[in-house]
Amino acid sequence: MNGEELFEEVAARLDCLEGTPVGQLSDLVRREGACMWLGVGADEPMWTGDNMTDRELAATICAGCPVADECLELEFRTAGFVSLGVWGALADDDRRGAYLAWLRRRDGGRR
Ligand code: SF4
Repeated sequence: MNGEELFEEVAARLDCLEGTPVGQLSDLVRREGACMWLGVGADEPMWTGDNMTDRELAATICAGCPVADECLELEFRTAGFVSLGVWGALADDDRRGAYLAWLRRRDGGRR
């Protein structure tokens, strides 16, 4: 699968969340996001990857997150193309590609 196909697949997966209000997405991500325990204290992971790329970091933090799609939908709606960091299991470059595919699927790209 090439990059464009991946972006289309990610964007298509989010179609079912189109009608979910932002507040509901935000509540879900805050309550169930796998990263929400980071910085809470004693259970922090032993980070060893000084040279870890954003993609690797995204995969590590977001692996198995039960609300990765909701996280990505929320990020697309609230920050869009300019968002930085790791959200929805995608690093910046991949997320921007997926965001453009998401835009094309929503309102015919008028957003
Ligand atoms: S997808 Fe990643 S950044 Fe988003 S809530 Fe889950 S763990 Fe956190």
